[in-house]
Amino acid sequence: MAENIKYKRVVMKLSGEALAGEQGFGINPPEIMTVAKELKEVYEMGVQIAIVVGGGNMWRGITGEKLGMERAQADYIGMLGTIMNALSLQDALESLDVPTRVQTSIEMRQIAEPYIRRKAIRHLEKGRVVIFAGGTGSPYFSTDTTAALRAAEINAEAILMAKNGVDGVYSADPNKDETAVKFDRLTHMDIIQKQLNVMDSTASTLSMDNNISLVVFNLNTPGNIVKVVKGENIGTTIEG
Ligand code: UDP
Repeated sequence: MAENIKYKRVVMKLSGEALAGEQGFGINPPEIMTVAKELKEVYEMGVQIAIVVGGGNMWRGITGEKLGMERAQADYIGMLGTIMNALSLQDALESLDVPTRVQTSIEMRQIAEPYIRRKAIRHLEKGRVVIFAGGTGSPYFSTDTTAALRAAEINAEAILMAKNGVDGVYSADPNKDETAVKFDRLTHMDIIQKQLNVMDSTASTLSMDNNISLVVFNLNTPGNIVKVVKGENIGTTIEG
């Protein structure tokens, strides 16, 4: 337990893409199992883990809007997608004997608890992984913003931003610009001023205003989550 770890309580942001596998959409149970096994390792190190799941593998509100839907209505569909992802991740973690609770921002009592801040903290203290589903519960927001909000609410030390195939924050898109350089450290203000593609601006300002550290790293490299919680600088750390 509690071996050399830098962060004792974290919010892990898992995008929907991370659960979709190579096809890029839908739920891919083997892919989810891979993530769950890594999370179990971190859990066994004694780290308190809350997870905010995205839903981009199912549906994005903005896509619905572009196709003629009312934005708020389309966003609610997106939020429901995150709940499907959360249940899939719960299934994988529990099959590995990791105790979990899903809390939804939109009540769905037959399948999960409603989000109650104090209860979430209690679960973490008791050694349960808490999965936050349903985003903020409000349209026009993202699950990145949810991660910043929940991290502030539960006093998490950092948000771990797991990215698919990208190992940190770059000055430009490394796939398109060969002069792109990776940053080891940045401030939240750097992200906003340089308009770096890390989180949306609402999530960035919320993180900055509440002094929440952020670590951006590549989820696809095995062992990376463990390295991040030990404080190894494998991605980009955003502080201050
Ligand atoms: N969403 C929302 N409010 C929230 C969080 C999410 O309306 O607080 C909706 C929004 O339509 C978004 C979708 O849920 O496009 C999926 O979330 P997100 O795009 O953040 O998922 P990710 O990109 O992390 O997979």
